[in-house]
Amino acid sequence: MKKILYVVLDGLGGTPDPKLNGKTELEVANTPNMDHLAKKAKLGLMDPIAPGVAPESDAAVLSILGYDVDKYYTGRGPLEAHGADLEVRDGDLAWRANFATVDEETLKILDRRAGRNLSTEEAKALADEVNQKVKLDGADFIFKATVGHRGVLVIRRKNGRLSSNVENIDPGYKRHGPYSIAIANPPKEVQKCIPLDDSEEAKEAARLTDEFIMKAFEVLKNSEINKKRKAENKKPANIILLRDAGDSLPKIPTLNQLYGLNFGSIVEMPVERGIALLTGMKEVPIEDSTDYKLWAEKVLYALEKFDGVYAHLKGPDVPGHDGDYEKKIESIEKIDSVFFENLLPKLDFSKVVIAITADHATPCSLKSHSEDPVPLLIFTEGLASDDLEYFGESACSRGSIGRIKGTELMPLLVKIARE
Ligand code: ZN
Ligand code: ZN
Repeated sequence: MKKILYVVLDGLGGTPDPKLNGKTELEVANTPNMDHLAKKAKLGLMDPIAPGVAPESDAAVLSILGYDVDKYYTGRGPLEAHGADLEVRDGDLAWRANFATVDEETLKILDRRAGRNLSTEEAKALADEVNQKVKLDGADFIFKATVGHRGVLVIRRKNGRLSSNVENIDPGYKRHGPYSIAIANPPKEVQKCIPLDDSEEAKEAARLTDEFIMKAFEVLKNSEINKKRKAENKKPANIILLRDAGDSLPKIPTLNQLYGLNFGSIVEMPVERGIALLTGMKEVPIEDSTDYKLWAEKVLYALEKFDGVYAHLKGPDVPGHDGDYEKKIESIEKIDSVFFENLLPKLDFSKVVIAITADHATPCSLKSHSEDPVPLLIFTEGLASDDLEYFGESACSRGSIGRIKGTELMPLLVKIARE
């Protein structure tokens, strides 16, 4: 059986854009390595979850790894917490958190990301202070800073369970089942946590969340770190915004249970790490995720050790959100000229099946994830080529793979690897 190399470029996909003469960022980018591979490969399009759904990364990743999100998804909070090495038991309340800046009198949000310049060290020190100084009535909690302004919060009740059926207190997102939807022109005020049903577990979850937020605000606003930030003319990280609560981890079979294969994963963000660990993939840590040459080395190393490797590179998503065409195209070109340049010539395609795709599209024109299907390339020796010229959405729309759903890809790769 061949080995599987599954490469996901976060937010790679785009949508035909008048500013790019009707092309996408990927089609405009100069990507000789991926194009060379595409000429020999089979191409197609993939709807990460389903046609018409603009997914968030976490649900998308779960889906493109083969798991039906309608059946398994329990919210982003538990996945983030799991990826940050916090335990989430059934009945715990796990939130995705962001440090933000509010006006200390009115609690109006001034900056959703505390100026976007909060260092991981500052965030970790602030989290330590919150963990030491805040005590909740009837519950324990752990608040953990992860990367930059991001963090996770897990609240565990001393007696009984909590329900995640509560509204976000981050006004930028509204709950929609286990998902959150970003809302246009959100209210400026930090929201009170509202239970979405009459259960005692939801009411208690809302009460504890509000108690945490206000007590943490008091600690943060008086923190020396924030006084120093203000003195340096930086925005204080004086509030924690919470969204995407969940009260259990998804109960999914591992990839090994499903396919009898051992996978390794190379990922950089806590949420992707949480999903990778849940699916039973072993972690191959990457010391410097900005070093694409190192990524190539790690992939080659992991392919020696495992039956399959999942590599999730964050690159193109952030400039997509910023609407920064130049940076998104540059990021795609860098992945091609460093990561793939150092990887592809060293792969023995008589023994490896490679798939290159995205978890969703993040078109610069939208500055958010879109419902566009993402480009997909599959190559191994012995697989008939589609004879298409390059790796891009319009070529992919003519590929022989057709248009598949995210949950179909993993079984397809395993099938090709076994042929
Ligand atoms: Zn993503
Ligand atoms: Zn994104």
